[in-house]
Amino acid sequence: MASSAALNSKDLSGSYHQPRASGEIHVFIGPMFAGKTTSLLRRIKSESNNGRKVAMIKSSKDTRYAINSVVSHDGVRFPCWALPDLASFRQKIGEDAYEKLDVIGIDEAQFFEDLYDFCCKAADIDGKTIILAGLDGDYLRKSFGSVLDIIPLADTVTKLTARCEMCGKKAFFTFRKTAATETELIGGAGVYMPLCRQHYINGVTVTVAESTKVHHLGLRQQL
Ligand SMILES: [Zn+2]
Repeated sequence: MASSAALNSKDLSGSYHQPRASGEIHVFIGPMFAGKTTSLLRRIKSESNNGRKVAMIKSSKDTRYAINSVVSHDGVRFPCWALPDLASFRQKIGEDAYEKLDVIGIDEAQFFEDLYDFCCKAADIDGKTIILAGLDGDYLRKSFGSVLDIIPLADTVTKLTARCEMCGKKAFFTFRKTAATETELIGGAGVYMPLCRQHYINGVTVTVAESTKVHHLGLRQQL
């Protein structure tokens, strides 16, 4: 007669195996230049060094540094799958490879519309550890994509800060230097800068300040 333990470990496909490890979701949010990708890469490399099987995903919309690598602003890189959506990941990597994965990293998570469904299934059902990095807010400080929807699902949430380009204090917001108004305008330091609350508000409300800021920035960079 089969023991109850054996019955409990029988999965839907009818095979016997060890019970899955419980899934986890860890989230890094914050403005641009806050070190989100650096933190994500550090965690993924650490998991990999500990013998866990890892895969990294980024949006195929973001080709700023490399197509098949996640690259932080300070130049650290890790190979990745560049995909238009998360639903296609399982098919791209293959069922066997997906099954063996322990940890999935997701960079620029705000670009994935199916973030919630993917993370929910991967962590709850498939027992994966998800570590993701993304912008919580856009340049208008409004919720960006589905990143904030993940917070009720997460084990941990870490909000990182950058340095204000104007005063060097902690920066919480991403300021767009150009007049473009689309939400997804992909760019780096030429288009965006991190600002503290005071300088963000000044930058948004005093349009004249824009030329002054650039002038100040130029002076600071020359020093
Ligand atoms: Zn400031």
